[in-house]
Amino acid sequence: MFEFKNFKEFIQFFDDERICWDYLEKKRWNGNITCIYCECDKVYKYKNGKSYRCSCCKKYFSVTKGTIFERSKIPLTSWFAAIYLYTSHKTSVSSVQIAKHLGISQHTAWYMHHRIMEAFKVDFDAVTPVDGMWEVDEVYIGPNRKKISKARYAKMKNRGGIFTMQGIIGLLHRENGLVGKLLPDNSDITYIEALLKRHIGSMSVLMTDGWIQYAGMHKYVLSHEVFIHKDGEYGRGIYHTNTIEGAFRHFKDTIRGSFKQLGPKHLQRYWDEYCFRYNSRGLTDIERFDLTFKTINRRITYQELVHGQSKQTQEKEDTEGRKAFET
Ligand SMILES: [Zn+2]
Repeated sequence: MFEFKNFKEFIQFFDDERICWDYLEKKRWNGNITCIYCECDKVYKYKNGKSYRCSCCKKYFSVTKGTIFERSKIPLTSWFAAIYLYTSHKTSVSSVQIAKHLGISQHTAWYMHHRIMEAFKVDFDAVTPVDGMWEVDEVYIGPNRKKISKARYAKMKNRGGIFTMQGIIGLLHRENGLVGKLLPDNSDITYIEALLKRHIGSMSVLMTDGWIQYAGMHKYVLSHEVFIHKDGEYGRGIYHTNTIEGAFRHFKDTIRGSFKQLGPKHLQRYWDEYCFRYNSRGLTDIERFDLTFKTINRRITYQELVHGQSKQTQEKEDTEGRKAFET
């Protein structure tokens, strides 16, 4: 593990593509390179420092293949600097700022940011229940229709930002950290209960506000502490929902401060990035940089980013749609 005191030392160290390739190789395979196609471990490395050939399936691949850096024209030195900048800031940074720092276009910086955020993605549903002290709450992002004028609403809609309230449910385990998910429009009591039961163990203490969707949860946990905010009740000793409410406040500030416009389809990604930042707040900048590489084996294409789905899926849907129409 390297130790850098500041950003200057960091970019001085990662000033060469080869150093970045070596670092990435170490993070991906830790000295035991396996084929990304067939997982065979008889792999030859080429002298150029970034290409490999598998001796089982005879396929070629590069060190960036299958990662968030795949097929990018941006040098890894810039990618690494961008990851460092994005992860070392207390709140997120806008792509305009990153573009200025790295001497790239704002559009490129935006795309890089979204690929980096892909590494923070959490598989929300693939979990087993954990016992402990859980604070659960929900937050709404976006304009309140009742509070804004018609003209302003129309303007917002034109700009393409969030123009309806989008709910997020947040689950905070006081020792393990924060996760959360965007709430679908039809999230009823059954949906919320199933969601909570996937995360919260039966020997837990659950702390929530008086939202009706949580009302049946006392059956599944050791104790369910409810605080009716409108009656002025916010906590009893160690039982409260102040931690998660503080996190939500900070998330809202982050969105307001760094991103003036935020597409609703990207909100989950920004939320996951926020959770990453929240959960790693005790780490040093370089530890946080290093942690990002644990989940680097993901990639989002421009198609998926802009249209919300891959070109293949889109084409498949198009053909299926056409077939259904023709028959
Ligand atoms: Zn292979």
